[in-house]
Amino acid sequence: MTRWSERAASLTFRTQAFINGAFVDSLTGETFDSINPATDRLLTPVASCGEGDVDRAVRAARMAFESGVWSRAAPQQRGAVLTRLAELIIEHGEELALLDTLDMGKTITDSFGTDVPFASSVIAYYAQAADKLGGEVAPTAPGDLVLVTREPVGVVGAIIPWNYPLDMCAWKLGPALAAGNSVVLKPAEQSPLSALRLAELASEAGLPDGVLNVVPGFGERAGAALGRHMDVDCITFTGSTEVGKLFLTYAGQSNMKAVWLETGGKSPNVVFADTTDLDHAADMAVFDIFGCNQGEICSAASRLLVEASIHDELVERIVARAAEIRPGNPLDPATRLGALVDRQHLERVLGYVRAGEAEADLVLGGEAVSVDGAGAFLEPTLFDHVQPGARIAQEEIFGPVLAVLTFSDEEQAVQIANDTIYGLAGNVWTRDMSKALRVASRLRAGTVSVNTIDRLSPQTPFGGFKQSGIGRDLSLHAMDKFTALKTTWIAY
Ligand code: ADP
Repeated sequence: MTRWSERAASLTFRTQAFINGAFVDSLTGETFDSINPATDRLLTPVASCGEGDVDRAVRAARMAFESGVWSRAAPQQRGAVLTRLAELIIEHGEELALLDTLDMGKTITDSFGTDVPFASSVIAYYAQAADKLGGEVAPTAPGDLVLVTREPVGVVGAIIPWNYPLDMCAWKLGPALAAGNSVVLKPAEQSPLSALRLAELASEAGLPDGVLNVVPGFGERAGAALGRHMDVDCITFTGSTEVGKLFLTYAGQSNMKAVWLETGGKSPNVVFADTTDLDHAADMAVFDIFGCNQGEICSAASRLLVEASIHDELVERIVARAAEIRPGNPLDPATRLGALVDRQHLERVLGYVRAGEAEADLVLGGEAVSVDGAGAFLEPTLFDHVQPGARIAQEEIFGPVLAVLTFSDEEQAVQIANDTIYGLAGNVWTRDMSKALRVASRLRAGTVSVNTIDRLSPQTPFGGFKQSGIGRDLSLHAMDKFTALKTTWIAY
């Protein structure tokens, strides 16, 4: 038993909705089960919110917003509360990390080593931004003084996925709260626990009641109710492209709320023959799809595009490294590949593996495995000689599955890299900086990493071109989504 297993055994869960500063049951009393995908065991039933609960949460959010207790608080004061929240995330880091690991199967190394510090740094970044963004005086004719100010949009509905439960909360809450909005957050039904604890910590940090509400529940019920609500001003969503499109429909069918979407990806990792350090390129390729979050990352480099002359050399190195990664107990700090989020998702990923066997060469993995006799685990899986039009080259698999494609020159590399409906991220490896910049400029992707992989930070915008979404998370640009410009015209 590891230290983490012992700690996990004594963990308590927040299981009710968090509305207006208090934990409450759903109005119908309904619950859903939160299952640990590494053990198949029940963690806890959690309140299943529906339309009535979402309405209650939106009313609380609106009341808090109208009261001005947060929306008209001094920006420095909002910054101070968020700074305290960033500290509390670190102070309760072990607990928050365990909640995500137990809830959705990621390794404790990822949740504690990466996600907790990142969530805290994102909240801290927006805490510091709260009093940094001023307005403008417009260059109008003499006799008029025209102020252009940023105002919070009002009530923000945040719908988040299960792959980074804590970090996704931070990405959405940081800028929305710093700007003075109230928020109703719906965590994914697969991973509601850290969001509920985070809401409690936000209260402890000094966030007034009603400013942050959390409504756990199913997408079709709680998510759709938030999307269709007539008194939600703006939606910020991360999840699948398919559901992102639904939110655009919900907005059109209700009050025309603004909709910001961060959706799927099928990111290319383009490795040219003149890459200086192929070992490093191989390490990074393996890390991004097998050694980090089970490949359940929307921006994961899930397509390796390798120049024909180095194909064998690079694929050999990648296979050797990937073969060393075995699925293991997520609570063991030595484990690099945890459980997939649930059995249903495992089946979906296996469906892609079966499709891949018919259209390419399965070189590694491809089988579900159990760890200590249970769990939704999949071996690192690699397909070679994949054609650009193959399903496994086109569709987002969201698991530890890598498709290897070959190109013969720069033009073909760009053409294949851009040949998907997605445009979230891209990666280029070459020692020729002119070539790197040429290719980077032609990749239709929100982020391009050069001689590194899938990079992001609180300071840099993250989001996609094409069907990878609308708008950007992170950076100061994210504040634009959660503020509306107000023009005040004064004649003198
Ligand atoms: P994933 O494929 O990563 O599970 P989803 O897009 O299904 O992504 O889920 C992302 C978020 O969207 C989750 O919080 C989920 O509950 C919510 N969701 C799923 N289906 C719907 C729906 N029909 N309407 C509104 N929200 C939904």
